[in-house]
Amino acid sequence: MKPRFERSTQQIIHHLNDNHSASEWKADRCAEAGPLAYARVSAVGEVSGKGREEVDAAGHAVTPGFIDLHTHLDAQIGWDPHITSVTWHGVTTALLGNCGVTFAPCRKEDREFLVGMMETVEDIPKYAILNGLPWDWESYGGYLDSIERLGPMINVCGLVGHSATRFHVMGDRAIEEQATPEEIERIAALAAQSVKEGAPGFSVNRHPGHTLPDRRPIPGTFASREEMLAIARAVGAEGGLMQTVPNFGKVDEEMDLLAEEGESSRLLFSAIGEHREVLDAKVSDMRANGVDITAVTVPRAGGGLGGLATNNFWRTPAWNEAVRRIAAVPAHVLGLNDRGTLTVGMKADLNVIDVDRLEERQPYIVHDFPGGAPRFQQRAQGYRATGCNRQVTLLDDEHTGICAGQVLRNGG
Ligand SMILES: [Zn+2]
Repeated sequence: MKPRFERSTQQIIHHLNDNHSASEWKADRCAEAGPLAYARVSAVGEVSGKGREEVDAAGHAVTPGFIDLHTHLDAQIGWDPHITSVTWHGVTTALLGNCGVTFAPCRKEDREFLVGMMETVEDIPKYAILNGLPWDWESYGGYLDSIERLGPMINVCGLVGHSATRFHVMGDRAIEEQATPEEIERIAALAAQSVKEGAPGFSVNRHPGHTLPDRRPIPGTFASREEMLAIARAVGAEGGLMQTVPNFGKVDEEMDLLAEEGESSRLLFSAIGEHREVLDAKVSDMRANGVDITAVTVPRAGGGLGGLATNNFWRTPAWNEAVRRIAAVPAHVLGLNDRGTLTVGMKADLNVIDVDRLEERQPYIVHDFPGGAPRFQQRAQGYRATGCNRQVTLLDDEHTGICAGQVLRNGG
């Protein structure tokens, strides 16, 4: 069954000025012509005038660009700036650095450690990571600068991870020991500094099944309540969010800890269906107490779109609600005030979708990692166009080759 949606009656018009300095997307039923500064939606209403480049959206759905809140593209972005497969599925912003595992902050001598951790937690070959990224940073801001130089196809932002931050402060002690009060202070300060340098927040992994190559849990898995609350306060004070993979073996305690963290920061956590009732109850309580908490979960096995940010996160939503959950809601979670909806003045990230044809294709294996390691790719059909920062990055399900992405920094 196809979802119900409001069909566009007009064309989308994409103006590209001769000097390439400014351009405009005119969305569904656009009205005003005229120069548009810096890739913002100029008008929503009746179309008048002709665009230099046009995408016929008649009969199609027009949506804001999708925001994928849960990726581990941190390594892949180094050799695949086209960021497949999400760029075939309407995603115009991807969040890196989830689940506590990130490549910054990182001293030169700590690279092997962080890379080994990503290898075991996210199953990305170590040599691919070491050879695929420039490794020309130490601070989190330096990492974001480096990612920006890679020229990604779509926008990216990156959480700073607990493991890297803790290891930076405590060294090997970070793996199995509790932080001293002085170390807690330094961890919280480094987290806040990374958010100041552009991370939209801090990611935490408390799932004991995520381990180092030697099978010990990754740093931060068993961090104390005091440490977590100190970090949440420091990150929240900079406007950042806390992303968490809880230890579902202690789901009540973990959700209570999140409730405390939520007194000072926005929250995002990974939910699993097994604990549905507890999670529903705890999240409802938190929201009733004013906590800003959002869950991500896997919509279904093999789903092309990860990061379905949800409210009643177990049900399949209607079209407009589904779009809201993968655009406006994640924009709010990330503090991106100028993305996530298609209204005048918002950044021009959008999709034109032929909903009648919309489908995921069968996944297939490619060997495009440095060193030839395999991975799955999955393409989609029904994407008439994707626009990112005013540029057309995809037309009729094929990349145009234009890399239009920016690194979106906290507060920037
Ligand atoms: Zn993850």
